[in-house]
Amino acid sequence: MLYYKTQEEIEILRESSLLVAKTLAEVAKAIRPGVTTLALDKIAETFIRDNNAVPAFLNYNGFPNSLCISVNSQVVHGIPNTKELSDGDICSVDCGVLKNGFYGDSAYTFSIGEVDDETLQLLRVTKESLYKGIEMAIAGNRLGDVSHAIQAHAELNGYSVVRELVGHGIGRHLHEKPEVPNYGKRGSGLVLREGLVIAIEPMINMGVKGVVHEKDGWTVRTADNKPSAHFEHTVAIRKVSADILSSFEFIEKAVSSNIQNKVIN
Ligand code: MG
Ligand code: MG
Repeated sequence: MLYYKTQEEIEILRESSLLVAKTLAEVAKAIRPGVTTLALDKIAETFIRDNNAVPAFLNYNGFPNSLCISVNSQVVHGIPNTKELSDGDICSVDCGVLKNGFYGDSAYTFSIGEVDDETLQLLRVTKESLYKGIEMAIAGNRLGDVSHAIQAHAELNGYSVVRELVGHGIGRHLHEKPEVPNYGKRGSGLVLREGLVIAIEPMINMGVKGVVHEKDGWTVRTADNKPSAHFEHTVAIRKVSADILSSFEFIEKAVSSNIQNKVIN
């Protein structure tokens, strides 16, 4: 079942998505070498609750925390813990909230201190791949056009696309139909219509595309232990261009004022 949202519902989804963006900005202010991912999780949970919302990931299928924080070769679904981040790490922070009955979902990969150029390039290209996908997310195009655009940009730059995890519809449920793969054939799949709201979230690996699951039952890691990056926006399908409901603006403003970190462009 596909749910097409009314304009009123999209505005509520925007509020949820912007709260996610602002929560990630709070994380951005605090993220640096020496901070634990559990401390970042607490910052996020407090901020979400202070804004009259509920962390969407907490207790989702038993997930123990509010943020998924995945470091270096961890792809997604990392569990916050008491280990400190180190200079040179990259750190994907995925956040979801439920507010006024609708979910928002967005993710950003941060560089911690001085990160090597090769890894910064992976972050840059992954973020670009997300926007390449969003460019194709317009009414009349097909889902495969979005997927293909993401895959083509990542692979053209020598990276690989994770197959096991995909983007998704979002609304009154965190994960709705359709699935939004980050790989696919142009001109294939569902025809996109106005009112469809999807989370587009490329997970791009520096090395092989294969992933393994860690023993904690959640964390997904690259099979070759090379770095992986993840960027995600919640977007509404429109006729001329997609309406990006989440935002990286707050995050990137916070990152640039956090001298421990740098914005990647
Ligand atoms: Mg997410
Ligand atoms: Mg998502």
